[in-house]
Amino acid sequence: MSIFSHPDFDNHEGVYTFSEPESGLQCFIAVHNTNRGPASGGTRFWSYGSDSDALTDVLRLSRAMSYKNAMAEIPLGGGKGVILRPEGDFDREALFAAYGRAVEKVGGQYITAEDVGVSPDDMRIIKTQTDFVAGLDEGDAASGDPSPHTADGIFRGLEVAVKHKLGVEGVGGLIVAVQGLGHVGYDLARRLKKSGARLIVADINEAAVQRAAEELGAEIVSVDVIHAQEADIFAPCALGGAINAKTIDDIQAYIVGGAANNQLKTPDMGAELLKRDILYCPDYVLNAGGIINVAAEVSGTYDYAWVDAKIEGLRVTLKEIFTRSEDSARPTNEIADEMARERLGL
Ligand code: NAD
Repeated sequence: MSIFSHPDFDNHEGVYTFSEPESGLQCFIAVHNTNRGPASGGTRFWSYGSDSDALTDVLRLSRAMSYKNAMAEIPLGGGKGVILRPEGDFDREALFAAYGRAVEKVGGQYITAEDVGVSPDDMRIIKTQTDFVAGLDEGDAASGDPSPHTADGIFRGLEVAVKHKLGVEGVGGLIVAVQGLGHVGYDLARRLKKSGARLIVADINEAAVQRAAEELGAEIVSVDVIHAQEADIFAPCALGGAINAKTIDDIQAYIVGGAANNQLKTPDMGAELLKRDILYCPDYVLNAGGIINVAAEVSGTYDYAWVDAKIEGLRVTLKEIFTRSEDSARPTNEIADEMARERLGL
């Protein structure tokens, strides 16, 4: 497997491979860029089809973290860890302790946090082996669950989008289709409801949609059609790839913006949305509230006023992306990537 000629290799500063047969650990840690500070990004624990799939994931995700952190104007670079889930039975505690030792060996160039498949308990085990961990719920500067801050940033960003696209202040009276009611999606739905929006929701988890119907008066639709609702905003808050060749023609909303990472299945979907006159809020800009909160913990003294100001800064950045996109008739995702690379000095 070649790294330097890999299509997703982007002059990453470091790509580390660690294995520990006793615990079954096999992982990659990628440090994409540290121009703005130590590389930070979560650890993903996933059953990959092959180690080459895992390598592709770590290369892409670490670069995305550099872009996200640069756009959020926080003093962190971009990195990511992926652990290949062992087949069959394994000792979870031994595995995550081994991973903690791997993070420690990277020597502070990479600071890890939670991502898909990793729990707060796993984070506590990692922490027994290294101090290069953030997003914890215990300790001096612990910042806890980042999800409410992610939802807060998305909510504030959507206000900018509706002002830009629809010329209205706030989401009152608008219809929002929320795909996925997990940690972020539900919190976002709650904020939208509180501000007078009407909700249409879908989730594969029946209990989550029932709760949204009861608590938030949301209309429930099937997961197959949530993207196709006659709504003002479509908010993808489940997994990546919601905007793809199959779904794009069905999207009725004027604005697409939500929590999910990699909402565009392929980058050209950004141009396709622009062609259809749909305003796309670049995912890694809109959903940066959580990493901003994590950055406050990394600094050593958690200060919510700093977090609040940085989340507010996302509004300014989004407005600039929308304006540049309008002025140049280029897709917002391209503008965001361009701005991120400028900020990274690349
Ligand atoms: P989560 O696992 O708590 O929630 C995901 C929800 O999506 C679950 O309720 C799940 O049942 C639902 N879902 C899965 N497949 C679905 C489908 N096909 N249709 C509808 N619903 C479906 O995750 P989360 O922490 O809320 O994160 C949501 C997304 O936002 C993820 O893509 C994550 O990477 C991204 N994100 C999260 C944060 C954060 O702070 N948690 C920060 C940035 C980005």
